[in-house]
Amino acid sequence: MTEIIPEIKIIRENIKEWKSQGLSIGFVPTMGALHAGHESLIKAAKNECDKVIVSIFVNPIQFAPNEDFDKYPRQLQADKIICENNNVDIIFYPTAEEMYPDKNQDVNNSITAIVPPENFQDKLCGKSRIGHFNGVATVVLKLFNIVKPDKAYFGQKDAQQFLIIKKMIKDLNLSVEIIGCPTIRDADGLALSSRNAYLSEDERQKALSINNALTHIRTDYDSGIISAEIAINSALLVLDPQISVEYFEVLDINTFSVTETLKENTLIALAARVGSVRLIDNLLL
Ligand code: AMP
Repeated sequence: MTEIIPEIKIIRENIKEWKSQGLSIGFVPTMGALHAGHESLIKAAKNECDKVIVSIFVNPIQFAPNEDFDKYPRQLQADKIICENNNVDIIFYPTAEEMYPDKNQDVNNSITAIVPPENFQDKLCGKSRIGHFNGVATVVLKLFNIVKPDKAYFGQKDAQQFLIIKKMIKDLNLSVEIIGCPTIRDADGLALSSRNAYLSEDERQKALSINNALTHIRTDYDSGIISAEIAINSALLVLDPQISVEYFEVLDINTFSVTETLKENTLIALAARVGSVRLIDNLLL
């Protein structure tokens, strides 16, 4: 039986009890609308930890006013079934008031926030989603302080988020171990995302070209092409012409800086709009 717990106080009581029994705690933070991508994180946590907590919280401070906070899919009952099927112990399902009792309209002046370094924010999604990663890092730190997990599981589909969380752990000496999990895709290659629910059938077909473009780069690289510019330009030809690319960047994952040369540990990441739906995907060489 998976319990749904909205109160921080009750979560803390459970954690205290588990810790006193010497049990390890795995944590999977999500915004809900769970799919097989989230499920893969949950399964990894179940494999490695005695107890597993999944949080479902559509975090208001990581959405800009023009973004999809209001329409983000919310489906607690379906999520609960997925959690139950995977023997999740607790779903932490707080309200915004529970998480941010002091927050008012002016987030910057009402709550203490984490600000990841500029060079982690000035590329990929951070360039257009101003303040997004402050909101992500802040809520993740709060969740870690509440759940006190031994291990926390994140998807590599959100590559920038994953690297920023790892950086925060290192910089702030947090003791949680961060586990990165590979991107889960539909049979046709589309990376699973809660936002795929917004796509029409026609848009979904066009969205498939995102993974095709990344696969094209992998093939180019395997055949000896190491120029990032050549690889990106030929991948752009694979993308459906009606997709609008927000960024298609090539970064060295160790330095998180732009690189001209494809090599091991190069991250090729893109964000694109298919109709009004913004999707992200990436390839790590
Ligand atoms: P979200 O609910 O979108 O905030 O995602 C919660 C966690 O699930 C994040 O760590 C994501 O990176 C991860 N995730 C989302 N989609 C996928 C996917 N297709 N494969 C693996 N992990 C994913």
